Order: sequence, then structure tokens, then C-alpha cells
Amino acid sequence: MLLTGKQPAEQLYSKIDERVRSMAEVPGLFALYDPEDKPAGWYLRSIQRAGEAHGIPVYARPLSEGTALPTQPLGGMIVLSKTKTPIPILPELDVDGTGPSSFSTLYKGGLKAYPRTTPCTAEACVRLLDFYEVPVSGKHVVILGRSLTVGRPLAMLLLDRNATVAICHSKTEDLPGLCRQADILVCATGREGLVGKDCVRPGQTLINVGGDAVEEEIAPIVENLCPFKGGVGALTTAVLLQHVTETN
Ligand code: NAP
Repeated sequence: MLLTGKQPAEQLYSKIDERVRSMAEVPGLFALYDPEDKPAGWYLRSIQRAGEAHGIPVYARPLSEGTALPTQPLGGMIVLSKTKTPIPILPELDVDGTGPSSFSTLYKGGLKAYPRTTPCTAEACVRLLDFYEVPVSGKHVVILGRSLTVGRPLAMLLLDRNATVAICHSKTEDLPGLCRQADILVCATGREGLVGKDCVRPGQTLINVGGDAVEEEIAPIVENLCPFKGGVGALTTAVLLQHVTETN
């Protein structure tokens, strides 16, 4: 089965639309971005398009123009850049979960719902599994990638749902062997071609977050595939805008 992001995203947008209709003033998203970072630019455009379609203002500003907050009411702030110098975000605006207070909420666990500070891509992966009713409790999940934005937070969310989680990285030995053990395999390294037919077996669910998997090779083998194009990305944007309009 092909697990596309479009349907769960549409379901989430209908909730966002309802919420926006109930608001006298819709708070906006402040997006600082690095114009040199191409993937950040694509993500920004997807956010801007979705913001426009669902009545949520998006205030985008290149990092070089400073980090002062706009004067308009805000529901969130994100930094779209791989900059090594962290840019502080007020905890109440941290809608992609990058600051210490958001980490603390996530890592303490016991989450019954998703706080608006949950990292969006990680939340999108779990929402996708929920939407397609892929069982998680007691299952063996292998995550490729240990970043603070995808691999680590996703491991925490899945632990909370009683999965057994392994996180792999560039020093992991026998990656194909570990991948084959997974019931759910999440590929989030961004290394194209890393995951081929030697890494999968029948019955698995594979989420190709970073484009690592060779989809034409693995699609005939696995049970469920969330593709790179039309997959988690669309849902990530919806999750972000939902966080902007939430107050929890
Ligand atoms: P990142 O910070 O660059 O992290 C990449 C991770 O992959 C690191 O932990 C790295 O290990 C690991 N890795 C690299 N080469 C590996 C190898 N040969 N074997 C095993 N692990 C390896 O990237 P990120 O921000 O997490 O994003 C990962 C990918 O997902 C990127 O392609 C990004 O564009 C994509 N992404 C997609 C979405 C979406 O919504 N679709 C959202 C966010 C990110 P080390 O720690 O050892 O270096």
C-alpha cells in the first residue's frame, strides 16, 4: 500500500480551517530563512502556499536582515537554516520544538497528545502511521538518522507509543541487517541510494523521509511505502500550521 501524505494532511487542514474560522485574529508564523539553503527555500514556499490557502499569515525574512520579531500577533517562529549558531526562540513560539523547554517536554514522555512544541517532521511520521492504522505498540522500529529534528524526537514519540526503537547513524555497523529486522523502517539520512533491496523484507512499513530508499527496488518487496515525493513533507507543513494556530 502507498502511504501518501496528502490524505492525512487534508484531514488536519479541515481541523485547522475550523479553528481559523473561530478566531477573531489569526496569529502568524515568523519564518527566518537562509536564502542560500535550497531545501529550506522549498520548505518555505510550501509553508507560504499552505498559509495563504488556509488564512494563516507567514512573515518570512532572510536571516541577514536580523532576528527581531515582527510586530504582528504571532503563533510561532521557525528558523529554516542549517546554521550552527543557534537562534533563540521564545518557548511559547517554538512550534518546531528546537529549544530546551520543548526538548524537556518531549523527552519526559508520557505524552497523551502532541504539544504544539513537538518537532513537526517527527510528529508527521507518527500521524501518518496513525492515519493508515499501522500498528506501533510492541513493534520494532529502526530509524536511520539521529538528528535533533527528525531521528531523536521521532524515537521519543514512538517510545511513548510502546515501540522498541533503534536509532542508526553513519557509524552503525551492518546497517542492512538492522534494517531487515525492522517492522517499521524510517529513512531520514538524506543519503540517496542508501537503502536498497538488501535492507528490506516483506511485511515491513517504510517511510522514506529523506529520499534514502531506492523506491523502485523496495516497493515490490515491502508491505507499505510512504514515498519521498508526496509523503511526509506535505503532512509536515500541515502539522506546523496546526501548531501555529493551537494554544496548548
Ligand atoms: P541531518 O541533520 O543531516 O542528519 C542526517 C543523519 O543521517 C545523521 O544522523 C547522520 O549520521 C545520518 N547518516 C548520514 N549518512 C549515513 C549513512 N551512510 N548511514 C547511516 N546514517 C547516516 O539531516 P536531517 O535534518 O535529520 O534530515 C534528514 C533528511 O530528511 C534530509 O534529506 C532532509 O532533507 C530530509 N527531511 C525531510 C523532511 C520532510 O518533511 N520530508 C523533513 C526534514 C528533513 P551522523 O549523526 O553519524 O552524522
